[in-house]
Amino acid sequence: MTARRLAGKDLAASLRAQAADAVTTAVAGGTTVRLAIVMATQDQSAAWYVRSLTGAAARAGIECEVADLGASATPGRIAAELARLSAGAAVHGIILQTPVPAGATAAELAQAIDPAKDVDGANPVSLGRLTVGLPAFAPATAEAVVRLLDFHGVELSGRRAVVVGRSAVVGKPVAQLLLGRDATVTICHSRTPDLAGVTSEADVLVTAAGRPGLITAAHVRPGAVVVDVGTSTVGDGGLVGDVGAAVTEVAGALSPVPGGVGPVTTAHLLLATTVAAAGQPATGKLR
Ligand code: NAP
Repeated sequence: MTARRLAGKDLAASLRAQAADAVTTAVAGGTTVRLAIVMATQDQSAAWYVRSLTGAAARAGIECEVADLGASATPGRIAAELARLSAGAAVHGIILQTPVPAGATAAELAQAIDPAKDVDGANPVSLGRLTVGLPAFAPATAEAVVRLLDFHGVELSGRRAVVVGRSAVVGKPVAQLLLGRDATVTICHSRTPDLAGVTSEADVLVTAAGRPGLITAAHVRPGAVVVDVGTSTVGDGGLVGDVGAAVTEVAGALSPVPGGVGPVTTAHLLLATTVAAAGQPATGKLR
């Protein structure tokens, strides 16, 4: 068996087009859609990501402001900037770029982001609201996973889903969104004994560990749908996921790294920003 490829390119293009249309409508109504990114790091991957996001925003007609506070910014300074942007009327979406300097976690700092502008679902209030079924922006990567599955016609209701990873930015919100779609969800992490025993029960396996080659053919039930969220940089600068090459011979469908969840995540963020600008209640169900 060679797994069907769950590519993100066409979906990302469609989301970018929807975002551009929403921007046109906003502009016609006198609103310039604005996204602010607050960063306090010299991390090269973060810088690359911010450049890529600002480029995509510009192409969609979204004005993007990057507040680069420097790697020595204090937690107080970062929180104050997030609070300032939250209070102002000019900016509709706010993203706190990770990593953040030592001394505070991203979750602590993101509490200063107004949930109505929290387009990347970083404020713990957003995850809490999502958990109890209230409207909220979910983290974009988590939304991208479910969007990708929907786009490729993968049924979720009643299916057994296993998520590898329990972070607040990927694992937990993905699990929450899958639960919201009536999947039966198990979350695994580094202390899960017999990982392969659990993951091989999945109809839909989402892996977000950041461990290249973690998921082998033995971790996958024949015919299962596998979504690789992991991104790790390898020696030659290339990007690899968590899923080993042999999985393609076992899985029924597989989203690749690169080219799967990543482009959908960026495009989703643009669309979420237009949703925030439209003053619609934040919704974890943008689909
Ligand atoms: P993270 O905070 O480091 O979390 C990784 C999770 O994986 C943790 O819950 C960890 O378990 C678990 N884990 C690590 N090794 C494991 C193992 N051997 N077996 C089972 N579980 C294991 O990372 P993250 O921020 O969630 O990101 C996860 C991956 O997604 C990274 O590669 C990141 O680069 C990628 N990512 C991709 C996108 C995208 O748009 N494509 C966006 C964001 C992140 P413990 O909790 O027990 O430590």
